[in-house]
Amino acid sequence: MKHLAPAYIYTPHGLQANKVVSISDEGYISAITERTENVTITDLLPDVALLPGFVNTHSHAFQRTLRGQTQHARSAHDTFWTWRHAMYEAAQCLTPDTLYQNTLQTYREMLAVGYCSVGEFHYIHHQPDGHPYANANIMSEAVLQAGLDAGIRVVLLLTAYAQGNFHQPPDRMQRRFCDASLDAYLARVDALRSKGIHLGVAPHSVRAVPAGWLRAIGEYSRSYHLPFHIHADEQLAEIEQCQAAEGCTPIELLERCGVLGPQTTIIHATHANLEEIALLAQSRASVCVCPTTEGDLGDGIAPYNELIAAHVPLTIGSDSNTRLDPIEELRWAEYSARMRYQSRRILVADASASPGASLLTIGTQAGANALGLQTGSIVPGMAADFVAIDLQAPSLAGWTPDNFLDTLFFGASSQVITQTWVQGKSIQ
Ligand SMILES: [Zn+2]
Repeated sequence: MKHLAPAYIYTPHGLQANKVVSISDEGYISAITERTENVTITDLLPDVALLPGFVNTHSHAFQRTLRGQTQHARSAHDTFWTWRHAMYEAAQCLTPDTLYQNTLQTYREMLAVGYCSVGEFHYIHHQPDGHPYANANIMSEAVLQAGLDAGIRVVLLLTAYAQGNFHQPPDRMQRRFCDASLDAYLARVDALRSKGIHLGVAPHSVRAVPAGWLRAIGEYSRSYHLPFHIHADEQLAEIEQCQAAEGCTPIELLERCGVLGPQTTIIHATHANLEEIALLAQSRASVCVCPTTEGDLGDGIAPYNELIAAHVPLTIGSDSNTRLDPIEELRWAEYSARMRYQSRRILVADASASPGASLLTIGTQAGANALGLQTGSIVPGMAADFVAIDLQAPSLAGWTPDNFLDTLFFGASSQVITQTWVQGKSIQ
């Protein structure tokens, strides 16, 4: 048993002084008590506020290698699609060993900035020509090993990929993402499920799998209580192609296939319309926004006002990992929303609230729910995942217990995070 005594702890009751957090040997929060002389403190943390560790709901770890590599001109008019070509080139080169090395480095960076859990949307499965490796899950195992060696909690969102676009075969660069059949994909999911790891299913997008796969994978996720994640509505071209091929928008197609539910997370939803948002609200699905990546790729700005009004839970993801900083990621969700609507205080729980507490919920609890994890808030029973905020950091000067989270999210970066704990274990 460990007993941490920081200057402040952020619990659902707000920022609290003179508390002790007790952690079981298994790495769960066992109690939060008043600091008295009867408790033997194992870790005294003066000048520190302990917050729940951040949850990164959506990552492609290997894309970290593209940082700084895709800002030069690739064509007269660069878009998401020209960036995607560069990403495919990077994906072609990966081996199990280089994927492990890239992912390990990315996860170490995530931990240093305060992410304790990551949903890894993993889609590079097979050899570059599309043939499975002798061990069909060797690439997934490389990702999981990198997570173990770094010390971050990984939820492997095993991606299903079958086609290049609606009713089109994969092109040369997409072959290694694709399974030959739905059964081959589900056999790989079964094999990973038997290992008892944190797992979810993730059809890549409505353009990358046929409707029959969506239905079957949705059923599978409900049978085994697995999170179901999918990219949708990131680009207008996808919506136009979906309308042409299926006669409906991507989220309408997901609804028709019966895959929307509380276990579902839509990645991006940048161009979702009001009908699609109503479908998400009815089914209690979540949306993961990735503001730094969406900004980098020129995707657009999610319909935050409409999503908040419909009470659709939001989470954040670092996605392409062009930038890793949960504080900045959350600030950009709020800032881009302000620019879209020419208004302030968009991501708030009610009209009189300031955004700090909402941003923390989006970055922690909501992400944990979307990944099926027992973490995201400092209450007994949750995993002991924390970040230590340095209260002496110059960027936080002037904070008070009432404005602490607003000062953090609007005035600081992850440089104020001095220590991270995952499942009770300190990662330096
Ligand atoms: Zn993504």
